[in-house]
Amino acid sequence: MSTVVETKEFQTEIRQLLDIVIHSLYTEREIFLRELISNAADAMGKLHYIQLTSPDVKDKDLALEIFIDTDDNAHTLTISDTGIGMSKEELVENLGTIAHSGSKEFIKHLTAKGDQKDLNLIGQFGVGFYSAFMVADKVTLHTRSYQQEGESLVWESDGVGSYTISKGEDQARGTKMVLHLKEDAYEFAKEETVQRVIKQYSSFVPYPVTVNGTKVNTVDALWTKNKNEITGDEYNEFYKFIANAHEEPLFRLHFSSDAPLNINTLLFVPKDNFEQFGFGRTEPGVSLYCKKVLIQEKSQAVLPEWLRFLRGVMDSEELPLNISRETMQDSALVSKLNKVVTGRFLKFLEGQATSEPEKYKEFWEKFNQFLKEGAANDFTHRKELLKLLQFESSNSKAGELISLADYVGRMKDDQTVIYYVNGPSREVIESGPYLEAFRDKGLEVIYTYAAIDDYIFGAIGEYEGKRLVSADEADLKLDNEEKVRSEQSLSEEDVQALTSWLKEVLGSKVTEVRESKRLVDSPAVVFSPYGTNSMQRMMQLMNKDMNNVGPSVLEINAAHPMIKRMDIARKNEDSFAKTAAEQLFENAQIAAGLIADPRGMVNRLNEILERALG
Ligand code: ADP
Ligand code: MG
Repeated sequence: MSTVVETKEFQTEIRQLLDIVIHSLYTEREIFLRELISNAADAMGKLHYIQLTSPDVKDKDLALEIFIDTDDNAHTLTISDTGIGMSKEELVENLGTIAHSGSKEFIKHLTAKGDQKDLNLIGQFGVGFYSAFMVADKVTLHTRSYQQEGESLVWESDGVGSYTISKGEDQARGTKMVLHLKEDAYEFAKEETVQRVIKQYSSFVPYPVTVNGTKVNTVDALWTKNKNEITGDEYNEFYKFIANAHEEPLFRLHFSSDAPLNINTLLFVPKDNFEQFGFGRTEPGVSLYCKKVLIQEKSQAVLPEWLRFLRGVMDSEELPLNISRETMQDSALVSKLNKVVTGRFLKFLEGQATSEPEKYKEFWEKFNQFLKEGAANDFTHRKELLKLLQFESSNSKAGELISLADYVGRMKDDQTVIYYVNGPSREVIESGPYLEAFRDKGLEVIYTYAAIDDYIFGAIGEYEGKRLVSADEADLKLDNEEKVRSEQSLSEEDVQALTSWLKEVLGSKVTEVRESKRLVDSPAVVFSPYGTNSMQRMMQLMNKDMNNVGPSVLEINAAHPMIKRMDIARKNEDSFAKTAAEQLFENAQIAAGLIADPRGMVNRLNEILERALG
């Protein structure tokens, strides 16, 4: 019998990936087995799901099981499943091209890092199948789709540049993968090795696993067990299994409830936030079950988007087995699930913040962007999320974080609002002019370093009835008593004359010049007519042509010696007064973190230096 053998090239990205997989020394390469077993389990989970609604599948009475066979003489390891199998198109699509954006990111990352091949990331991005080539120099895969009209196919490759697909002998539904082991991986043809490797997580595979004819696991969904009967190790191994992770999770939350819904949930926060490393968007990782039957893998619909970093399972008896992916989105039940689980998780975090502050801090450093995203966009959970936000402040040391509740708890008796200021760093904020008055009056100010913080504060407006007020707001009146004009200050008439003169000199760069009620040490300060300076910085970033920043409100400190001397120069009609006024204004802009055009400034500074040096 002659068979047609088609040879196909791997997509470029896959070739790169395989090159890395094959040529990198990897100490934990035994994880390939976990990847392949989880693929087998996924394939059966999918079949299980299809069967719920369309029972007419090939070999419908074939039990869902995984068989592993070792042959120490032939140096082969075989993994078989009775899952959905693959059609020819699916073989090409699933094993010859990178469909997931995650894998693309993975390749980009690896090639960007040069030869530092961090295989710890394999699996994280759904490149699991190719890990077979860490131990095999040839993989032969026999597969038969669950669809009645399918055919038996053989896929084969040495993992170098191409693969072949040919017709195979008739076989039952499912996939059988034969790994022809490399010499240095012969150990995986030994039963003891395989037993040892799969022991760790075989109990999390929701289907029977048999090694050389002996069943090795008792199928039991971990999340349905009693908490007291589960060890920390079991939890960790389970997490590694479902999340394709190599490190233990940062947090774990296992809970069940009967009302308002019957749910059994096991959630994990990973050790790392890959979005933070620039890997593109994290895909959701919580799967939906009904009485241990997988309803939807890594559901997009059930939890809010900002919880996409979570890994785990949610199991609810109430979920109808035949709920379709389309109706999931607007099912009342799903939104109830969402509410209960999200609420519970937020409560858990709140508890962690007080019971394990160090660990919470680690979590906060890595995952705060998600909570902020939620606080900004998710109105349903905003209130709870706000409680979790943490900031540095003028009353805390660098690196020490406080919550809004901490702030409110230590507000002064006559203080009615919450003050915050946005800047690129603690140093910049503290050396700028905006804090002076607050320091003077002993008012605490929250420091925010990210533009999103400003956005959130602007969006929520208040916390527990206390208004959130930006310290660089132009019309800000501080809570405590009005500042009394100092005796050293210029007279009111002089101030009047000086401010109108400044307005004239600065022209369209300012909308207003006035006396400051709050400056202590700085000669001047600017405020944005757009609300806050960070608002203006944001506008600048979006509009690169806005080179000269746009107009500002300038406030001067009438008691400052420099301002007083400037007034004298103005009265003497000294032309240098104008130069000084321009520089004073730009200095204030720089202190506000607003970009001033440095070119014109250099000439002016030289002129000032010349004069100063006599
Ligand atoms: P992932 O499991 O994250 O999707 P893999 O690289 O492990 O990525 O597998 C790629 C794809 O190949 C899977 O999504 C699946 O469609 C297909 N596949 C792999 N193994 C099997 C199998 N045993 N049965 C059916 N399909 C499989
Ligand atoms: Mg996989």
